[in-house]
Amino acid sequence: MSFISLNNIYKTYNAGTGAEVKALKGLSMSAEEGELTAIVGTSGSGKSTLLHILACLDADFKGEYILGGTDVKAVSAKELARLRNRKLGIVLQNFGLIYDMNVMDNITLPVTVSGEGYDREKLLSRARELAAGLGIEDKLKTHAGRLSGGQKQRVAIARALVNDPPLLLADEPTGALDQNTSSDIMDVLGELNAAGKTILIVTHDMNVAAKCHKCLELSDGAFK
Ligand code: ADP
Repeated sequence: MSFISLNNIYKTYNAGTGAEVKALKGLSMSAEEGELTAIVGTSGSGKSTLLHILACLDADFKGEYILGGTDVKAVSAKELARLRNRKLGIVLQNFGLIYDMNVMDNITLPVTVSGEGYDREKLLSRARELAAGLGIEDKLKTHAGRLSGGQKQRVAIARALVNDPPLLLADEPTGALDQNTSSDIMDVLGELNAAGKTILIVTHDMNVAAKCHKCLELSDGAFK
């Protein structure tokens, strides 16, 4: 069975009103464990809508989404939140960091705000290990706002990995970076993928798409 399986997904905004928008129209896709997939498409083609569904942030859609063997629509809101925490990490567009917090606090945020109990020493040690792997171990006490773009993205990646999820979703991970830094960040994502992470990247950058195992093109709410 595929790690991710979306079957015949329909997403309509403002359904039943005069302002109805059909954002996804019978979209299907799958990704195997360990696969590195790019999703490309013009503005308005439905990429963000799809990413929200993939990230289990939106379960209000028609069709079936199976993530790591779990039917996303069949679980309670609480179970969905737990699934999101355990199974996936998200690297947001423009990093999504809290700039007046230091790097350590940004990396550990998904755990400290989860409402679930945790072992503080283990968490700090996990954050240090991630920071070392990403070359930002000397920045742990620095406010995130003082970092370069590439460093900010490394913090965002470390934060997405803090729960060691099998799946990493990245929304335009190179969108705010220059070409050299973009290439560095793609190397980081490539290494994580080689180490076993399943990765999906939404991107406009064809250099990024070229480095993925497959590239899916979204057009008007479905894959071409
Ligand atoms: P992309 O990320 O590829 O630019 P989106 O998924 O953001 O595409 O948008 C797909 C379509 O859905 C667009 O027509 C957009 O205007 C519409 N849309 C997105 N979000 C909403 C929303 N919250 N309410 C109404 N329409 C929306």
